[in-house]
Amino acid sequence: MVRFDETAARMFDLDPASPNVMPSRYRQVSVAAVPSLAADDLVARFGGREAYCRTRFVVARHQAEPERCALVELARNASDDLFSPAAAARVLAGAQECAYLRDDGADPGIASHLARVALRRPDRRCIVVEGRYRHVSFLLNPQPVPVTVVDVVPPEPSKLADQVARVLDLAEDLPPIAVSERIVDSRSLVTAPAPDALIVPCRGGGVEIEGVAVAHLDERPRLTAGSTLLGCQRSQQIHRWFYGADADRTIDWCPRRLIAADPSLDGLVLSRCCLREEGLEHPQDLQQAGTTVMVPWGATLAEVHEALRSLAGVREDH
Ligand SMILES: [Zn+2]
Repeated sequence: MVRFDETAARMFDLDPASPNVMPSRYRQVSVAAVPSLAADDLVARFGGREAYCRTRFVVARHQAEPERCALVELARNASDDLFSPAAAARVLAGAQECAYLRDDGADPGIASHLARVALRRPDRRCIVVEGRYRHVSFLLNPQPVPVTVVDVVPPEPSKLADQVARVLDLAEDLPPIAVSERIVDSRSLVTAPAPDALIVPCRGGGVEIEGVAVAHLDERPRLTAGSTLLGCQRSQQIHRWFYGADADRTIDWCPRRLIAADPSLDGLVLSRCCLREEGLEHPQDLQQAGTTVMVPWGATLAEVHEALRSLAGVREDH
C-alpha cells in the first residue's frame, strides 16, 4: 500500500480497482528508466517532478532490468504550460503486479489488442505493452467483456464472426471484448428422415447434402411434392409468395430461433436476423432479452460496431 496524503488523494480521479483501465489520448503515457521500483522511491521521484503537460501515467522501467516495471499516475494541476510539476504521484501497480511485454502485432491504442497480449500473463493485473510503432500503453485490471456471436453457416466462414473480428481489430472506442463463437451448420438441422428435395434460400449459400436434391428459392424452382424448406422467416414469406403455401416441411434456422432454443447461452449475445432491414434490435421476446442484440442479415461493419458498443455499454458521451 502506497501512502499519499489526503490532499493528493483527492487529485486523482481514477479508481485503481476499476476494470480495463487504459490511457485515452488525453492521458498520455511516458516511459522512464529508474534506479528503484520501490513504491516510496517512485512517489518521491515523480511527485513534484516536472512533466510534459499531457503526461498522466509513467511506466517506470528498472534501469538494470528493463523487463521489470511499475505504473505510476501523476496528478496534474490545471496549467497551460508545456511542462509543469506533477502535484503528486501514486503507484497504480507495483513491480510485482506488472509485466512488460513486446508485441509487434498489437496496436496499443486498441483495447482488444492489449487484452489479447494480457493473456500471456494472467498472473499480472497490469500489462504494459510495447506494440506497433514502438508505442507503449497499458491495460490495468484486464477484464474483457465476453460476447457470444451466434451465426449460421454455410456459406463459410461466418460473415458475422468475421465482421466482428474486423471491427475489433480497428475499434479504438471499445473496451476489450473477448468473443466466443456459436456457429451452427444449417445442414445439421436437416434431421432424419432425409428429405427427397430441399429448398434453400440461394445458390450462393453453398448448401449441399449428399443424396438430397437441392433447389434454390431465389431461382423460383418448380415445386415438387414433399419438399422441405431450409431457411429463415424471410424465405418462408417468399415461399408463400411464390407458391401460395408453406412448404410441406420447414426447418427454420433463423438465429433468433436458435438463440431462443438454447438455454445454455447466457451473457451478451450478438446475432443477425433475416427480418431486420437496418439498425439494431434488442429483442424482448428472448429469455436473453436485454443482453442480446440483433443486426440485419446483411449488416454493415458500422452496424456491427454499433452493436458491440451497445453490448459493451459504451455510452455516447464516452
Ligand atoms: Zn431471422
